[in-house]
Amino acid sequence: MAKQWQSTSAACPGGVFMTEEQAGGRCSCTCGRVAATVRGKPILHAMCYCTSCRTAGLAFALKSGAPSVVGSDGGTDLLLYRKDRVGRFTGGELLREHRLTPTSPTRRLVAACCNTPMFLEFTRGHWLSVYAGRVPGNVTPLEVRIMTGDRIDKTPLPNDAPSFATHSGKAMLKLLAAWAAMGFRKPKVEW
Ligand SMILES: [Zn+2]
Ligand SMILES: [Zn+2]
Repeated sequence: MAKQWQSTSAACPGGVFMTEEQAGGRCSCTCGRVAATVRGKPILHAMCYCTSCRTAGLAFALKSGAPSVVGSDGGTDLLLYRKDRVGRFTGGELLREHRLTPTSPTRRLVAACCNTPMFLEFTRGHWLSVYAGRVPGNVTPLEVRIMTGDRIDKTPLPNDAPSFATHSGKAMLKLLAAWAAMGFRKPKVEW
């Protein structure tokens, strides 16, 4: 195995190694009508404990058949992908936009076919935060827990990833590095 190839590979569950570009998979609602391909590894795998993620996620879970996106510890599991690595969504006409306030720059998209929360988008950003359960093939381990200061339940969190009361500087740098790699463009995700 060539060394260069090894360095860009990501382990997949079958024990087979994939290149960075081959990693990724399909982002799909539970019924499969809304879907897009995602290329490569996410920029970041983060658990967010902010009040907005929790409030929106718990409201989405009340809809019939909706998969829950807020864990028992109050965290929302998210995979942050470069927008240029998310393909055009099929069934995109079924996506419904939700904003916590009409002027919020953050919107969350839910597939109306099966009430599956799909992703959240900071509209001015270069990344898309996909609810982790939507990409079942993801093998990127959790890297960070953020906004833990917003937690209501104060039970201790696992030590599997560093926790931050607000944002993580390292996570911000990863986002910035990804943006630089994108030539500081903010592509539009199509649906
Ligand atoms: Zn669906
Ligand atoms: Zn959040």
